[in-house]
Amino acid sequence: MQTNHLHPALIIDLKKIEENTRLLTNACKPHGIAVAAVTKVFCGIPQVAQAMIAGGADMLADSRISNLKKLKDLGVPRMLLRLPMPGRAHEVVEHADISLNSELTTLAALSAAAEALGTVHKVIIMTDLGDLREGVWHEELIPFMRLAVQYPGIHIIGIGTNLTCYGGVIPDETNLGRLIHLAHEIEHQFGIHCEIISGGNSSSLHLVFQNRIPKGINNIRLGESIVLGLETAYGERIPGTHRDCFTLALEVIELKNKPSAPVGNIGMDAFGQKPVFTDKGIRLRGILAAGRQDLNLGGIIPRDPALTIIGGSSDHLIIDFTESANTYQVGSIVHFDLTYGGLLAAATSPYITKYLV
Ligand SMILES: *Cc1c(COP(=O)(O)O)cnc(C)c1O
Repeated sequence: MQTNHLHPALIIDLKKIEENTRLLTNACKPHGIAVAAVTKVFCGIPQVAQAMIAGGADMLADSRISNLKKLKDLGVPRMLLRLPMPGRAHEVVEHADISLNSELTTLAALSAAAEALGTVHKVIIMTDLGDLREGVWHEELIPFMRLAVQYPGIHIIGIGTNLTCYGGVIPDETNLGRLIHLAHEIEHQFGIHCEIISGGNSSSLHLVFQNRIPKGINNIRLGESIVLGLETAYGERIPGTHRDCFTLALEVIELKNKPSAPVGNIGMDAFGQKPVFTDKGIRLRGILAAGRQDLNLGGIIPRDPALTIIGGSSDHLIIDFTESANTYQVGSIVHFDLTYGGLLAAATSPYITKYLV
């Protein structure tokens, strides 16, 4: 790894992103499933999206219009994941080839915007199969469709669902089977061709790997599984994927032997909490130059397993180095893996320099 970086740094390995994407697209292909690679967690950095396309992604998907804008001219369709704001319908039609929808008001706005722009906007209607985040409740989908088909600027290209996001509902043959059944019913009743049946996110992958994914699902939207090599129904590592596409690198700015319990009368810490300490005697303590304003301190995991995070404030991260066999000094770089929440915060933080390797 290069050492001339400015820290704190987020180092992104494009080859590993490509390889993770390839492993997952190859797993989906035999089932007739296309992959929409989700770029939101890294704020739509075009080179990272490009690596996903090189790895076989069929489309790119993001929650934010501002990220989709960065992803034009990469040669694949762009999908808007978060339900559009009616007030920004114009931008949605301009920058997304496909959007996910669940409200007639929004479809009307998108239709009007598309007509004004002299185009037709493609939509996937989201169905809530029980997870209670977005989507038309599955029992209300058919009456909803009856009204949704009336907008001249809108082309409904299919239906989709999102699971394991709010309610923690795990995709299975029953809920995804219901999605396919609904697609057939819509095709039959309204003469719509469901060219896309989008069967969820990284939490649907276990069904693919176990050959249990219901036939008819022909699209999934994958974020975390590509970027972290994790499936999200059970939180397991996906064999053969890289866990370390992203590395957080922080620099040591102080390293000293100090007592493990503060000396003096204890009041409140910088965040108004009364801290509690266990006295472990004198420890080798280091300060790294990053804090809560830079990072989500709960979402970072030292690669050196002997390091323990003992605390942090707005600008400082305090680490216990005592147990490590490695030698650290002021100016040393400490590497971390990231959880999804940790990666989200690090990628979004203006204080962290991003490096593509
Ligand atoms: C973020 C998001 C995804 C990707 O989810 P992962 O668990 O990261 O694979 C898929 N669909 C929608 C609608 C999303 O918002």
